[in-house]
Amino acid sequence: MAHRLILKNFRIVDETMDRIGSVIVEDGRIRELFSGSDEAGPDGAGPGEAGLVIDGSRLNPVGLHPDRAGGLPVLLPALVDLHAHFRDPGFLPGNGLPAEGLPSEVLESAGLAAVAGGYGTVVCMANTKPVIDTPEKAALLKKRSDALGLIDLYPVLSLTRDMEGRELSGITALAQVRGAYVPRLLSEDGRDVADDGLFLAALTEARRLGLPVSCHCDAGGPEAEAARRAGQGREVWSRIEENHGTRRAIALGREAGCHIHIAHVSTKEAVDLIRAAKKTVKSGRGGVDATPGSFFLTCEATPHHIALTEEDARHLGLESHGRVNPPLRAEEDRQALIAGILDGTIDAIATDHAPHTQAGKAGGAPGFTGLETAFGVCVTELVQEPCSARRSGGISLSRLSALMSGAPARILGLGKDRGRIAAGFRADLVIADAGAVRTVEADFFKSRGRNSPFSGREFRGIILMTIRGGRVVFDAPVCYN
Ligand SMILES: [Zn+2]
Repeated sequence: MAHRLILKNFRIVDETMDRIGSVIVEDGRIRELFSGSDEAGPDGAGPGEAGLVIDGSRLNPVGLHPDRAGGLPVLLPALVDLHAHFRDPGFLPGNGLPAEGLPSEVLESAGLAAVAGGYGTVVCMANTKPVIDTPEKAALLKKRSDALGLIDLYPVLSLTRDMEGRELSGITALAQVRGAYVPRLLSEDGRDVADDGLFLAALTEARRLGLPVSCHCDAGGPEAEAARRAGQGREVWSRIEENHGTRRAIALGREAGCHIHIAHVSTKEAVDLIRAAKKTVKSGRGGVDATPGSFFLTCEATPHHIALTEEDARHLGLESHGRVNPPLRAEEDRQALIAGILDGTIDAIATDHAPHTQAGKAGGAPGFTGLETAFGVCVTELVQEPCSARRSGGISLSRLSALMSGAPARILGLGKDRGRIAAGFRADLVIADAGAVRTVEADFFKSRGRNSPFSGREFRGIILMTIRGGRVVFDAPVCYN
């Protein structure tokens, strides 16, 4: 007997639609979609049928606004994160274990945080201990994550061995070993490969493999660190660095003829550079379908760069709780990101989830915990709902779904069955209340990282349930009537 899940009476939203209807899931995949309320549904959608029935009209979490879209919760494709730090494999005693004795994150806590945030698929960066620089290490991490059954994890492979920038990593062995793990994205994370020749060699490998390379364009490096220690405005330095890094990644990507994905764009100049470069590139559907073997460009922005500025960083502490790479910028940079989202220059929203221990964060470790707040922050900051007067000129929930699910799935080459709600697609879904307001309480995060710049702030948009392959993997405490 097929494993069946019926989701009826929902406002169904993905990048191509926004309508009331029902979805029938069978054996982990979406079998059929029906428009209208349950009366219009098929016989099989009746509650008498075997399988789990979730009726949106009877889902009544605290705070669901009854005046919004007929009072129905939203059914969206599960979110896809192109950029997270899971800190696992981690920090063993004598190898960077923090004073309190616990790592800032492990696979289990990161997976729970991801599903609580509405994510079904996550790419994690390679800057762990040890660095994920061979297909074997990546495969082992994926296997451990698969055993938890929470999310689909795709560990990134670094471009160089041990991320030292001296020789290419195990990417040269990729696709040559039968049954070996093939990543969906390559990246050297926080420091792009300094040597042009080696960077180009890595990009040429990426072209051979048909894989995108996430470029962080924020080299950090000894010069930037020295400038920061000398009190010479790390912010100013890093802006130059990011703009330079973006220009360089685009130029080398053009030369190699590969897919460059610019991570966490944060300056208005970088948005302009990407906008101009994209005009020279032919792209497929939604601007996120690469032609194999030719230069292609996509980019992401983070919720914190969309929502916060240097003013917030000052309040949080420039060298402690407000520190992130790239730094929170000026209001005009933030506006440039929103303009980039509105005109399609920015393809995706990624969390750059970077958990730290409290001690680590107080000591200036850069980055924010982000998986559990991304959806609410983006709904609040970007989405213009008919019932919300908070912001004019925003985007639709459907466009947000493109940014958080559709486009990232395509960038990873998973667009054929993930990132949308359509017959035949995997039943990776989230149920959300796009209107309910909640205060961020970091103490209740599933993530071990409590370093959220949004602690205590109110956001609209709550994840109620996350479904992966037709099975419920997260269910927020709600009351049913
Ligand atoms: Zn990162």
